[in-house]
Amino acid sequence: MKWEGRRKSSNVNDQRGRCYSGGGRIALGGGGLGIGGLVIYLLISMMGGGDLGDVVGGAVLPPAQQQTQQQSTYQETPQEKELMGFLSVALADIEDTWSQILPKSQYKTAYKEPMMTIYTGQINTAFGAADSGVGPFYCPGDQTIYLDLSFYDTLTRKYGAKEGDFAMVYVIAHEAGHHVQTLLGVTQQLNTLRQRVARGTMSQTEFNRYSVAFELQADYLAGVVARYMQERGYLERGDLSEAMSAAAVVGDDAIQKRYQGYVDPDTFNHGTSAQRQEWFKRGFEAGDLSGWDTFKGL
Ligand SMILES: [Zn+2]
Repeated sequence: MKWEGRRKSSNVNDQRGRCYSGGGRIALGGGGLGIGGLVIYLLISMMGGGDLGDVVGGAVLPPAQQQTQQQSTYQETPQEKELMGFLSVALADIEDTWSQILPKSQYKTAYKEPMMTIYTGQINTAFGAADSGVGPFYCPGDQTIYLDLSFYDTLTRKYGAKEGDFAMVYVIAHEAGHHVQTLLGVTQQLNTLRQRVARGTMSQTEFNRYSVAFELQADYLAGVVARYMQERGYLERGDLSEAMSAAAVVGDDAIQKRYQGYVDPDTFNHGTSAQRQEWFKRGFEAGDLSGWDTFKGL
């Protein structure tokens, strides 16, 4: 991605973030969903009172005090400095994409820019040591994307995504997709279904299908951003395949194979590798909201 010398978003918070939302967090999927996370996830699912968004991604934030302490001793590496640079430019591209597309879409909605809080470093989670990296997530309550820069290493080295800046652009464009879903009311609709699960009027398995559609929609929206960037000549050779590779390694089937050795489609909540790639591609090809209804047929 060509980013040097280009506009950087002013909505980046370079600090440890905290999520104040009562509405739960929406993760990318695969962000540290280890065995511990799966077990806790299943437990909470069985209890029926859990908030899916708080556990997908397999981690919770540590107490605020601990975060502050880590920040004060933190030294930035050259790789992280570069990550900060192009992610700030990518966020600016995301802002430009949606402030142009949303008012012209069938929804005629003004775009309200989200914040992006960046923090770095491993965080010990309540789920223990299975995989302590906190995955990226979007918090509807404060309309902020939270990203741990070390997720780049998780994505490429641990999950095996192709190396390159655009893997991370896919990640934040997906999270920004959840912001668009929040502005357009889709997140709220999913939360209503989540409450039905809590009340016992919808099964977890059925809800999971809606969750998959919701996440695939965010992948579609990430594709729309990539198209916007391509039309302006910001993409470089390999960028799209980096995004496709990242979409593949965070697929539910890939994650389940990696962590539990088998695949259970009833528990999918983000979609398979193939689905995630497919919807990213559809968004890229459409370049607008015309084909974004992933809920069709549910
Ligand atoms: Zn997501």
